Amino acid sequence: MMEPLQHLYQKYLECRKVSTDSRAEQDNTLFFALDGPNFKGSQFAQQALDKGARYAVVQDPEVTGPNIIQVTDTLKSLQALALHHRQQLSIPFIGITGSNGKTTTKELINAVLSRRFNVLCTKGNLNNHIGVPLTLLSIHPEHELAIIEMGANHPGDIAELCSYSLPTHGIITNIGKAHLEGFGSLEGVARAKSELYLHLDKTNGIVFVNTSNDHLMRMVRRLANKVTYYQPQDDYSAELLQVAPQVIYRAANGEEVHTHLMGSYNFENMAAAACIGQYFGVPHEEINAAIAGYAPVNNRSQIVQKDTNTILLDAYNANPSSMAAAVANFAQMAGDRKVVILGDMLEMGQESEAEHKLLGNQIAGLGFSEVFICGKEMRYAAEEHPEFRYFAEKSALMQWIKDHPIRDSHVLVKGSRGIGLETVVDLL
Ligand code: ATP
Ligand code: MG
Repeated sequence: MMEPLQHLYQKYLECRKVSTDSRAEQDNTLFFALDGPNFKGSQFAQQALDKGARYAVVQDPEVTGPNIIQVTDTLKSLQALALHHRQQLSIPFIGITGSNGKTTTKELINAVLSRRFNVLCTKGNLNNHIGVPLTLLSIHPEHELAIIEMGANHPGDIAELCSYSLPTHGIITNIGKAHLEGFGSLEGVARAKSELYLHLDKTNGIVFVNTSNDHLMRMVRRLANKVTYYQPQDDYSAELLQVAPQVIYRAANGEEVHTHLMGSYNFENMAAAACIGQYFGVPHEEINAAIAGYAPVNNRSQIVQKDTNTILLDAYNANPSSMAAAVANFAQMAGDRKVVILGDMLEMGQESEAEHKLLGNQIAGLGFSEVFICGKEMRYAAEEHPEFRYFAEKSALMQWIKDHPIRDSHVLVKGSRGIGLETVVDLL
């Protein structure tokens, strides 16, 4: 190991806390002054030290001082430090990626495994080339198991995240049409996600795979190594009894499990958590209790009960596969008056027009009482049915709802994060 990394690791061990945001509280942290698209990180080094950081790592030779650590590249140092720390740990590392459902599945696995282990799991959505190193550096000696969410926008991203997190176990939730801008096609998405499988195959790790997913089954066929199969409707979550407004299923041990999540896609996420729980020896009853007890936050598949409306709020993100799953599930739900309020699916690149059209077409056939669609890309969906109410701007949609209140309805609210459709809920 190179001398500078050794030195940095000593400093890390003194702090055990790493930060990259000078605005956040700095309590004896090791602060990394990362450059942003429009700023130099080093300009915040002093601010971080003043706020209580113990050391600041900078790549600007002009910034010097007693608690300043100079490196050639702060981001590379952060990643190298994370890898070095990772190499000191011999606990299981579960890597999780996929187009949709990573965070939900991660939280469910965390809920299940926390029944038996001291688990460190990715906070929120810290799943990229900065978030993953930060997550790794938050693992302490008392942790017995780590769950690492890995996101990707481009080919090579997952391989890179694996190169410093070194997962020993892994799961791909699914392959869907997300971030097509960076991947080009569904095949491209599959290839990029399979970087996790390839890493596990090379390192003798273990893959968990959902047998009802053809894409994934095709991908694992090429692997030489260990695969643990799970089948949502059979061995793990057993029988799906209801998908909306909440999933209810009969578990493999006969217990009926009432959850706080909706949609058959979440049933698959639960099956993943049940499979991994069983693999690590968590008893059935505890797996069921953990899944039943998990309630989502952050606008992800939340059920919001208002005066006269029941709202399914899913405004955290949207792409063709999650949108299709959400509207199909909503259509199956009981309720006389069903209203959908949908916003743009962003980052779709050249596929945007075709995918929005396809969505419009799908919704047109589902018989909703009212359809509101909003955003620039959604105009392609709007063309698919004369009765869709289309608003290019969210403000216009909000005004319309204020003037024509929605009552006694089930309402699905879903769109990409950038649209921020959750603000509509205040009006319902
Ligand atoms: P991100 O890429 O933003 O990190 P993520 O993969 O972590 O997203 P979640 O945050 O868990 O995904 O879920 C986001 C949305 O994706 C959910 O609200 C739901 O609409 C949809 N979703 C969740 N699980 C699945 C699944 N298994 N299949 C399809 N869609 C899903
Ligand atoms: Mg996520």
